[in-house]
Amino acid sequence: SPGLTQAVILVTGGASGIGRAIVEAALASGARAVAWDVDAAGLAACAEACGDRLRTARVDVSDESAVAGAMAELAGSAWAPTHLVNNAGIIGRRMALAEMDPAEIDRVLAVNLKSVLYCTRAFLSGRAPHPAAAILNLSSIAARTGGMPGNALYATTKGAIASLTVAAAKELAPAIRVNALAPGVIDTPIQGDVFGDRGKVAEIASSIPLRRPGTAAEVAAAALWLLSPAAAYVTGTIVDVAGGR
Ligand code: NAD
Repeated sequence: SPGLTQAVILVTGGASGIGRAIVEAALASGARAVAWDVDAAGLAACAEACGDRLRTARVDVSDESAVAGAMAELAGSAWAPTHLVNNAGIIGRRMALAEMDPAEIDRVLAVNLKSVLYCTRAFLSGRAPHPAAAILNLSSIAARTGGMPGNALYATTKGAIASLTVAAAKELAPAIRVNALAPGVIDTPIQGDVFGDRGKVAEIASSIPLRRPGTAAEVAAAALWLLSPAAAYVTGTIVDVAGGR
């Protein structure tokens, strides 16, 4: 993507799946990247593969003071982020509405939703200006479909992220564009054992117009477009990357 060579793209949950693919696409576009994650081993593997244009830090994005502290280390340095990708997320334990566990409600809301507010707030105070400044949030088609059975809490957080994206786009215009991606079924570790089961994959594929799940690299391609000046007139939108589902 032309125009991202001076960018520093901060990716939360950057050690795995879609986040890692966005880190790799950002580096390939000439940008530098910062990956925050709770998975220390995943971050180390990512650092080893990506070289010195990637900086990593172990940060739990559901912890407001950890987020503020990690941003304080970047702010004012050559690694102050110009772009933010709020990607970290979990599905959480499958639960019926009648049995929702308050501790699990708090945990999923904190990791998937409060983290987006914490990281956005920290980014606004610690960022370095850039002509194509942008924030990208990871919603999901679950925001509209309600998600898989037992994942109402997950779907709720992804719907809230879509609403937040539209509100933030209005508030932060014209300085910063804010968009979201709504992936469908993408082959990453968040899907658990689904991709180890050929029967399940075939069943899922039959419900997708493009007849297959997507890859993290395909989501990253859409992410890089939304982050780049090629999307200069695009803000407040939720872009499906879902094979037509
Ligand atoms: P993944 O599990 O491969 O990656 C998520 C990463 O987030 C992991 O590295 C994990 O360690 C990290 N993380 C979890 N909790 C964290 C915390 N508290 N602080 C910091 N990092 C934390 O999953 P993925 O599929 O790459 O998911 C990335 C995003 O895409 C998520 O927000 C997910 O909801 C969304 N999404 C995924 C799919 C899919 O089918 N894979 C579909 C729609 C939306």
